[in-house]
Amino acid sequence: MGGTRILILGGTTEARRLAAALAARADLDVILSLAGRTIDPAPQPVPVRTGGFGGAEGLARYLKDKQINLLIDATHPFAARISANAVDAAGRSGIAAFALRRTAWLPIEGDRWRAVHSVAEAIAALDPSPRRVFLAIGRQEAHRANDAPVHHYWVRSVDPVEPVLTVPDVTYIHAKGPFRLEDELAMLREYRIDAVVAKNSGGDATYAKIEAARQLGIEVIMVERAQVAGLPAVETIEAALHRIDHLASSLMKRGV
Ligand code: NAP
Repeated sequence: MGGTRILILGGTTEARRLAAALAARADLDVILSLAGRTIDPAPQPVPVRTGGFGGAEGLARYLKDKQINLLIDATHPFAARISANAVDAAGRSGIAAFALRRTAWLPIEGDRWRAVHSVAEAIAALDPSPRRVFLAIGRQEAHRANDAPVHHYWVRSVDPVEPVLTVPDVTYIHAKGPFRLEDELAMLREYRIDAVVAKNSGGDATYAKIEAARQLGIEVIMVERAQVAGLPAVETIEAALHRIDHLASSLMKRGV
């Protein structure tokens, strides 16, 4: 067996970047876990396993079977179930664990944000009169727009939305970040968008739409994160690497 065995729960740019920073380390064995939702996932720099574990119990079993020493939750801030499972499984297994979690965006001068706490609430927050809405919340919850069919929607996702929405006026845009400010400005102008619905994901890759909305004076209905007790978190790859080094050296000293 090699060195410290690390399981990264991924599906984010940060998880891929962290894996890339660890890939060449001879003292670590790294496995990246993906849910398997994306049809054509980006190539990963370390071995990958795909699909659910079967709840917290399944994850705890996997950690034991694979003799994982360190669990890193680097999933998306809105992937609440897997993060709760990570807390539970790490507790059951008694192994070291932490989260790599981007900080949420904060509104700055010029932003016109309305904070809501779910995608359903965001759709309900649109006025009753027809609006031109850019929906940038991923494909899984796009169907919430069906509750307000009066609006015109432009729905952006990596993979196709299935089943398609039942609203009469919808355009699907398939694209994968990162997105550039000039492209977001051009898109919002071209479609004459007057409301953006977004999740407060944090990070750089999808921030351009928020900046573009600010520049154009467009309202953003911002779905904020739920406040849940998770694993102790770091916010940057550098901090994650620092913590990994610390944990790996203490495991080595203990002869684990
Ligand atoms: P979720 O609701 O928290 O998780 C649902 C179930 O999917 C989990 O209970 C788990 O199944 C499985 N799962 C989730 N992430 C996994 C992973 N990395 N490896 C193995 N199994 C995983 O998650 P979600 O919101 O559907 O997100 C799924 C994936 O997409 C995550 O990897 C996340 O990082 C990524 N993602 C999510 C969003 C978002 O807005 N939610 C945005 C971008 C990327 P079992 O219980 O069977 O283990």
